[in-house]
Order: sequence, then structure tokens, then C-alpha cells
Amino acid sequence: MWFIGLVSTLAIVWYLAYQGAGASLWIAVLISSLVAVTLATDIQWYISTPLWLVAAALIVILGVPAMRQRIITRRLLKQFRKVMPAMSRTEREALEAGSIWWDAELFSGRPDWEKLLNTPRPHLSEREQAFLDGPVETLCEMLDDWKITHQDQDLPPEAWDFIRQEGFFGLIIPEEYGGLGFSALAHSEVVMKLSSRSIVAAVTVMVPNSLGPGKLLLHYGTPAQRDYYLPRLARGEEIPCFALTGPDAGSDAGALPDSGVVTKGQWQGKTVLGVRLNWEKRYITLGPVATIIGLAFRLHDPDHLLGDKEDLGITLALVPRNTPGVTIGARHIPIDIPFQNGPNWGKDVFVPMSQLIGEQQYIGKGWRMLVESLAEGRGISLPALSVGAAKVSSRYTGAYAAIRQQFNMPIGRFEGIEEALARIAGLTYQMDAARKLTLSALDVGEKPSVISAIIKYHLTERYRQVINDAMDIHAGSGICLGPSNLVGRAYQALPIAVTVEGANILTRSMIIFGQGAMRCHPWIIREFSAAQNPDHGKAVADFDHAVFGHLGFLLGNTARSLFLGLTRGHLSRSPVSGPTRRYYQQLNWMSAAFALAADTAMMTLGGALKRKERLSARLGDVLSEMYLTSAVLKQFEDDGRPEEDLPLLLWACENSFYRMQESLRLLIRNLPFRPLAWLLRAVLFPSGFPYTEPDDSMSHKAAGMLLTPSASRDRLTQGIFITDDERFRQGIVEQAFRQAAIVAPVEKTLRSARRSGVISARDRLRQAHEALEKGLISEEERKGLETMRMLRRRVIAVDSFENYGKQHVLQTVPETSNHVA
Ligand SMILES: Cc1cc2nc3c(=O)[nH]c(=O)nc-3n(C[C@H](O)[C@H](O)[C@H](O)COP(=O)(O)OP(=O)(O)OC[C@H]3O[C@@H](n4cnc5c(N)ncnc54)[C@H](O)[C@@H]3O)c2cc1C
Repeated sequence: MWFIGLVSTLAIVWYLAYQGAGASLWIAVLISSLVAVTLATDIQWYISTPLWLVAAALIVILGVPAMRQRIITRRLLKQFRKVMPAMSRTEREALEAGSIWWDAELFSGRPDWEKLLNTPRPHLSEREQAFLDGPVETLCEMLDDWKITHQDQDLPPEAWDFIRQEGFFGLIIPEEYGGLGFSALAHSEVVMKLSSRSIVAAVTVMVPNSLGPGKLLLHYGTPAQRDYYLPRLARGEEIPCFALTGPDAGSDAGALPDSGVVTKGQWQGKTVLGVRLNWEKRYITLGPVATIIGLAFRLHDPDHLLGDKEDLGITLALVPRNTPGVTIGARHIPIDIPFQNGPNWGKDVFVPMSQLIGEQQYIGKGWRMLVESLAEGRGISLPALSVGAAKVSSRYTGAYAAIRQQFNMPIGRFEGIEEALARIAGLTYQMDAARKLTLSALDVGEKPSVISAIIKYHLTERYRQVINDAMDIHAGSGICLGPSNLVGRAYQALPIAVTVEGANILTRSMIIFGQGAMRCHPWIIREFSAAQNPDHGKAVADFDHAVFGHLGFLLGNTARSLFLGLTRGHLSRSPVSGPTRRYYQQLNWMSAAFALAADTAMMTLGGALKRKERLSARLGDVLSEMYLTSAVLKQFEDDGRPEEDLPLLLWACENSFYRMQESLRLLIRNLPFRPLAWLLRAVLFPSGFPYTEPDDSMSHKAAGMLLTPSASRDRLTQGIFITDDERFRQGIVEQAFRQAAIVAPVEKTLRSARRSGVISARDRLRQAHEALEKGLISEEERKGLETMRMLRRRVIAVDSFENYGKQHVLQTVPETSNHVA
């Protein structure tokens, strides 16, 4: 009887926690249970009385807000204030910038799948599609990447003109200002397609449409600034750059030493109020050719011309290149991907107040403006470039592996190569899904700062994996640069994608979970706000609400994690049936497990978690893998559940679940408070660690998708520059690839005949003749082999050069700076 009572009590407690029951329900259940036990059992008074007393005390202390706040919350608040991590203004502004979206659902421990599946899939308008099929295709055809990268170290003048005339610099500028006013999807498709042809062209187009004067003016510019600059930017009459980074301010850009002082000065012949600027910047893309510099600096008002404050904070200005005191330095060479990039500096440069973006209204708000714009832009440009590189790797590495033969076999059929090809295919599928899901959020007006950090980091890291695999498979033909090489430049460009818009190690270690925890956790931000409230009464009341809400959240996720861990998600809700059903259920489990692990880490480490970057990074990895898996599931639904894509989906999901598990496992292993870590392990993985890397048969199927022509392969690589035209390297590879599929059965016949001794020649040409003579193949098949032989020669050929080499003039690197006041 006692045993049954105990089990039922535990079951009820678990059920209430699982459902996230409110305080009144807990109290009602507690009282009913005690009444039932008192009346229905032969419990002795000396046991029941203390039970009733404890229950009454609990109800009074926890159930009466005034009492609870007095006895518990005040003490908790005091403790919380002690361990709360110190946060600078720039950090707080960065954390608060942007919006939350599907990331918050994943953080909740119980994601609402309808929210994801009901998100409209982004579509290109007719005008956008026409731009991709017209000017973008034309520009791709105009570009000779080898000439650009090796000979000219710049885009040709006609490409610059075409880019300006066709409005490539005004993709995001609304039509009313003469821009193209494109959606995030169209913007991404343009960059992706260009990047598949020339990374120099893609970066050149990307930068004015990303974080820079155009976007900043759109969001924060005064009407006069917008009316003047936006049409000029859209027409390419002004070439913008944005200068934030300097020698002493890289990742910690908020610490920039560049300064502006409010003063009076001369502007266009008149004495006006303005800012005297001194700065030193480097790595600035389009800097060497820019006509207008978007500049970030810290503004000071020592003479109090604007008010009481002296340090007015980070502020943004537009500085015309020809302003006296501005120097544009010589070009950097970013790892031989020669888009325009270089340093610039200014000595006592005076600009009027009207050149501050948003004028006086936005003084000191520069950091927030930058981070908000980054929340949006970071989700478009580099992901597009990374997916472009992955699609190129998928299409042309798969083709190469089907065409190139060693040991008498297409190399793609060797298991070792299959393993790498499967990674290329599976990761590309996942990258494209994540790109599209993020664009769908951007196109409904979200500025998802955590998600954009996730996809910036994970898509560039997957680009790293994919391009490394592609290089391994292309081997010598990937290494020898020249017009015939389709992957070498993408390999070279990888570190640029990794470094810019938030260097990857920093983004993984500090930003994803750091910002995710603050923004997406349903209670943390409320606890912080309450703790910072100087009104003590309000602080206690708000903190009380947040902290007990947090407790309920924690209990709920503990109950859910344990149950879902025991059942491996089996009984949880999935919005779909069929082959993807289990993945939704497993994500339910991982979401609860992640929420509990995150709370455990935050509770045990408090503010120290900020310094424990490896733990923070692992939590960020779990959140990110959940996002990437959701994206794959959503894409499968959006595509109409094509069965033939399943090998890619299965590979991507298995890979991500394994990574989630391993990140949680390493987190648990490294949590400092060991007993709690053991408990966490028992709750999160009560039935062991179920996930492994995708198995061999899964990899075999995923790799196979790249080795033969199919609708899936075309879907996977859709949106890059693809042509059958022999003038382009891509055209030759496409022809050879199709021919390889045609002759594959004939080559198999030759291989078997040779193995069984029916034909004896070693050379393929002679084998074909022998097979023809013996009636094993037809004349048409022999001709097909001959064609294949020629095409294969062309595909495996690499370039060589006479008189290689060219002289550059090295500018001396300044050892000390005297540009900054
Ligand atoms: C080709 C190119 C184009 C660029 N274009 C522009 C541009 O147009 N405008 C502009 O303003 N800037 C531009 N940048 C600058 C770019 O944003 C910076 O390079 C970037 O912010 C990193 O700064 P850093 O190179 O000085 O590296 P550092 O800040 O010195 O970082 C070095 C390493 O330390 C890591 N790190 C730093 N802090 C932490 C931390 N707390 N935890 C863990 N790891 C950390 C970083 O991740 C990185 O791996 C460009 C850079 C390049 C290379």
C-alpha cells in the first residue's frame, strides 16, 4: 500500500512538472493527496500531523507571494546580484539587439512544431527571378575568375560598370530610392550564384548590400540623408565601405580607440558645428575604391557643445573620401582573393553634424546600430557564399569522382572517397536548408541575432569541412591553380569567411550560447532586468516572478528530459508521420535535455560561465545542431517530401544528433560540480548514448547522389552557375559527367571481361576494340567509350604556365601609429 502510494505520488509530481503546472495546481494536488492519505489509509496521527504541518508551511511560504518574497526571494536576489556577470554597455547592447525566433522554441524544451512548419517558405518574385536569369547570369558569363585573381587582381572595368549599371550595389535599397528592393532570399541567391563563379565578384557585390552605409541609412538615416545618398548608392555613383576594425580593435571592436571631438569647423566655406575625427582602420573591404567611408568612432564632447556628457559613446559617420585629412592606404592581399581591401586613416578630419548617420538623434547609439544590422546581414552574405562553395563542391567534386578513374574504377566508387562525398552531400543539403530557413525569418521581418550567429559560424565551418573534402578528392587537380581549377579558389577563400563578421572561435565560444541564453531563455533576461532595477520593491516582485517561473521551467525540463530520455522520445508528439517522424520526437528530447543542461551549467557556474568558453561553446553547439536539424526537416516538408532526397536528410539528421549527444557528453564530463554532473548524465541519458555517426550504408547512399545525374542532385545544387557551354570549364565537366553515366555499364562489362580473362588488353582503348570484336559491346558503345576518353582527358587536365610570376610593390607596414589622437 505504501509502495503504491509512493509511486503514485512520484507519478503525480512528475506529471505536474512535465506539464509545467502552476502553483495553484501544485497546492490543490498536495492538499488532495494529504486528504486522501489521511482518510483512506490507517496512517497514525504522529505521522500525519507533521505531514500536514510541513504542507501548511510550504503552502504559506511558497504560495503567499508576500511571505515568499520576504523569506526566500530577497535572499536569492542578494545572492544573484553577487554572482551576476558584470556587463559593459556595449555587451548589453549587443545582447539586446535583434529578435528571437525559432531559437527560443528550441530553448524552451518543448518546441512548437506548428510554428516552424507554418512559416511560409520564401519565394522569389518574377522580377527577382528575371534578375537572376538575366543580369546575374550575364555577369557570371562575363567573369573570368582566373584573370581576375591571378592576372588583374581586380574585376575588369566592364564588370565594375555592369555591376553599377544593373543595380547590383542597390539590391537592398528600396525601389523608391532607385534600388532593386529585393527580398533577403533574392539577395542571398545573387551572392550565392556569383560566388560560384567568382568570389571576388561576390564579395564586391556583397559588401555594399551587407553591413554598411546603405543598410545603416535605411534604418537610421534622416530623410535628407536617405534622399541624397541612397539613390547615389543604388546607381553605383558612390562606392561605400564600412570601417570599424583597426589595429587595436579587432574582435573587441567596441573598444575602438578612434575618436571624434565635437567642435566647430569649416565645411563647404561655412563655419558649422561638427566633429573632428582621427582614426586608423585596416582590413576595410572596398576601402581602396570607396568614395564614401562609413566610419565608427567614439564621440567626445569636452567643451559641452551638445550637453553635460563628455563621452557620448560609439557613433557612426559618413566621410567622403576627398575630405581633407583622409588617407586611403595601399591594398591588402586577402589570401590571394583580390577583392578591394585595405587600410585607411584620418588626421583631424572635420565633418559637419549632418554627416553623422541619423544626425544627433543617433549619437552614441552606434554599437547598437551596428549589432542590429549585423543580426540581419550576418544571416545573408556569408551563408550565401558558404552554400555557394558547398554546392560547387557537391556538383563538381561528385562529377570529378565519377569521371576520374584509378585502379580501373571511378574513384567515387571507393569507400574512402564515398565517406568524403557523403559528408559533402549531407552537409550541403543541411547548409542550404539552414540558409533558406533563416531567410524565411528575415523575409518576415525578424532580425534573429542568435540564429544569424549560428548560421554564420556553422555554415562557414561546414564550408571548411566540405571544401577540405573536395580538395582531397580533387587531389592534384584541386591544388594546381589555373582556369581549369573549380575548387582551389574556394579553398583559399575559406579563412576570409571564417574571420569576418565575427571571427568563428569568438562566435562559437562567446556569442551563440552567451547571447542565446540571455535572449532565448524564457526567464534569465527577466531575472537580470529585475536584479538591475534600482527600485528595490519592484526588483523583488519582478525577481520573485522570474525566479519561480524559472524553477517551474527547470522542474518541467527535468521531468521531460528523464521521460524522453527513458523512451528516447518515442511517446512524444510529432507533427508528421513517415520517415521523419522519429527526428521530431528526438528533437523534443534534445530540446528538453539542452534546456536542462543549460540551466544546470548556468546555476552551477553563474557569471563564471562567461569565462568557461569551452562549456559555453558546447551548449551553443547543441542549440545550433538543433536549429540545423529543424531546417532540414522543414526543407523536406517544403519540397513536398521527395523520397529521393531521403538519403541526404537521413545523413544530415544522424550526423547532427550524434554531434548534439557528443557536445552534451563533453559538457557533462567537464562540469566542475561532479555529483551534479553525474545526476545530469543520469537524467539526460538514462538509457545510454544512442547516437553514432551516420553508418556506412547511409553514407553509401548519400555519396551515390553525387555520382549520377538525378533530380535530387539538381535540387541540391540549384542556384549556382551551371552551364553546358564548352567555353566554360563547368560546361566540359557537365558533358563528361553525363557521358560517364552513359558509359558506366559498358565500362563495367569491360572490367568483368578483363577479370574473367575474356579480353586481355590492359589499355582501355584496346579493351574496347577487343570487346567489340568479341561481340561484348556494340559499335555505338565503343564510340561512347571513345568520347568519354576524350572528355575525361579534358576534365583531368591541369594548367601549366610559362614565365610564371609577377612583381608587386610592398608598402612598408607602419610599426607605430600616429594617426589616432
Ligand atoms: C578580408 C577581410 C575583410 C574585412 N572587411 C572588413 C570591413 O569591411 N570592415 C571592417 O570594419 N572590418 C573588416 N574586417 C575585419 C574583421 O572583421 C576582423 O578581422 C575580425 O573582426 C577579427 O579581428 P582580428 O583579425 O583583429 O582578429 P583578433 O580580434 O585579433 O582575433 C584573433 C583570434 O582570437 C579569437 N578571439 C578574440 N577574442 C576572443 C574571445 N573572447 N574568445 C575566444 N576567441 C577570441 C578570434 O576568434 C580569432 O580567432 C575584414 C577582415 C578581413 C580579413
